[in-house]
Amino acid sequence: MVTQNIDGLHQMAGSKTVYELHGSSLRWPCMECGKVYPMEYALQEENKPIPHCTECGGVVRPGVVLYEEGLDDTVVENAVRVISKADTLIVGGTSLVVYPAVGMIKYFRGENLVIINKTETKADEWAQLVIRDPIGQTLKAAVNSLYKADEL
Ligand SMILES: [Zn+2]
Repeated sequence: MVTQNIDGLHQMAGSKTVYELHGSSLRWPCMECGKVYPMEYALQEENKPIPHCTECGGVVRPGVVLYEEGLDDTVVENAVRVISKADTLIVGGTSLVVYPAVGMIKYFRGENLVIINKTETKADEWAQLVIRDPIGQTLKAAVNSLYKADEL
């Protein structure tokens, strides 16, 4: 799973390997020593308005990539690696205008590119299948049809 989401919902839904291109709002690293705190730490009343590290006193910030900040090289390399090895790539819920998602598709060498998005994307012309519906609705219908097939 390669995602631009920062909310950790893919992991909560059961995805085991998730490359979060824009980081995670659930992990808050110290800007000095790198110690990582859970979001709950930053939200505690005694840590407001700016949470500090218990180890070094540095500022603890959300582990997300803010505008004009670079992406984590390791995350990008891993995302490119899994995309380049996939035989099927399902791209969902993105218009593919936000960097770097659109550039990552060019690393895909597999057979089946599937685009699921409400609106047209730049990658539609390369796809074997384009579904022009919301990703949540589409995947829910796909899962429901799998369960129905099991009952037969
Ligand atoms: Zn620290």
